[in-house]
Amino acid sequence: MTLYADLDEAVDELAEKIVECAREILRRPSLSGGEAEAQRHVGGLMESLRADRVDRWEPDIEELVRHPAFVSGRSSFVGSPNVAGLWRGTGDGRSLILCSHIDVVPEGDPAEWTHPPFAGEVSDGVIYGRGASDMKATMAAMFGAIEVVRALGLKLRGDLTVLSVVEEETGSAGALSAVLRGYRADAAILPEPTGFAVCPAQQGGARFRVVVKGKSAHAGQRHLGVSAVEKTDLVRAGLVKYEAHLNEKYRTELYAHLETPFTINIGLFQSGDWFCTVPESARLEGRMAVPPGLSVKESLKNLESFILAETEKDPWLRSHPPKVEIFDTYWEPAQMRSDHPLIDLVGEAYARRTGRPPKVHGTSWGTDGRMFTEFADTPSLIFGPGVSAHCPDEFLRVDDLLEYAKMLTQIVVDWCGVD
Ligand SMILES: [Zn+2]
Repeated sequence: MTLYADLDEAVDELAEKIVECAREILRRPSLSGGEAEAQRHVGGLMESLRADRVDRWEPDIEELVRHPAFVSGRSSFVGSPNVAGLWRGTGDGRSLILCSHIDVVPEGDPAEWTHPPFAGEVSDGVIYGRGASDMKATMAAMFGAIEVVRALGLKLRGDLTVLSVVEEETGSAGALSAVLRGYRADAAILPEPTGFAVCPAQQGGARFRVVVKGKSAHAGQRHLGVSAVEKTDLVRAGLVKYEAHLNEKYRTELYAHLETPFTINIGLFQSGDWFCTVPESARLEGRMAVPPGLSVKESLKNLESFILAETEKDPWLRSHPPKVEIFDTYWEPAQMRSDHPLIDLVGEAYARRTGRPPKVHGTSWGTDGRMFTEFADTPSLIFGPGVSAHCPDEFLRVDDLLEYAKMLTQIVVDWCGVD
């Protein structure tokens, strides 16, 4: 039997344990600010797998705020630790980081779920729960891979680090803290739910706000006022044009698979303060894509100039230009070298397991990967099972979890090398 067949068989033998491990992690809710219990559990798993070192620390806000890439709505990370497990290699192999984020987004209306969000239920071969695919359950595949390597008596040559970080969903402060603590490797894999697509590029994004000024008047004398709501039409026209520009100018091969890879969405709209008053202000808030090749700062400038190009057509808005800003949360885009050996190595593991060539493309969202790519000299690849995220009945098929465990085991062995 070949080594790969041995690895696959060893994962099969561990299948039940891997699924149980995923369920146990899902049973520990880990919304931002409430990750401690889940992280304690993950640290315990690392210890039980004989990590050479288990490192637990709370991100240091004083240190983080000095870094240009820091964004977070939080003013403290007390009670929100990161956890890292290191399995030291024998010496001459390539090192690898597997980085998963423990934080999840809120579950929303529990009535929308047919399986409770924090119960780790399995039904008809599907694991349900907040974090099932984004991305707590895949930690079980990482631990499965480590257990298989140990069970077969293999010794990794390169160092393997598993990171479980906080705060991905709100700007990657946890991953940044890991970078500042010195975590780096020859490459990193982030098992975000790409549906097994191999993603060397990741889109960035930013939360923006546009405030439009009007002039109030009694509704019965509407002609005396200026409706800020009506004036937002031109703002929206500017946004539509900017979105078209992004997709025309920054669409590369890696984004050919999507009709509109770079989107601008208005998620919040507020105006006025009384139904019978012409609204004197309106506020639009949304998320805009930041494609690889553009920075968040440049994006803000572009966004502003597209909006102003439209609103300048209106005399009122010319003398009362809308205020455009980015605030609270943003993710810079990132891309690893297109000839980086990890891309082919991961693609080969996928092809070996499925008999099909991998899909290779960019993601339409940001991840922690950019912190490693940009600030730790650690090129990062996004590659994971599952496709559902941020929705009720978030799920991961058991078969996909186990398939991923097999691929990941082969990837770890091939990348780090074994004795
Ligand atoms: Zn995620």
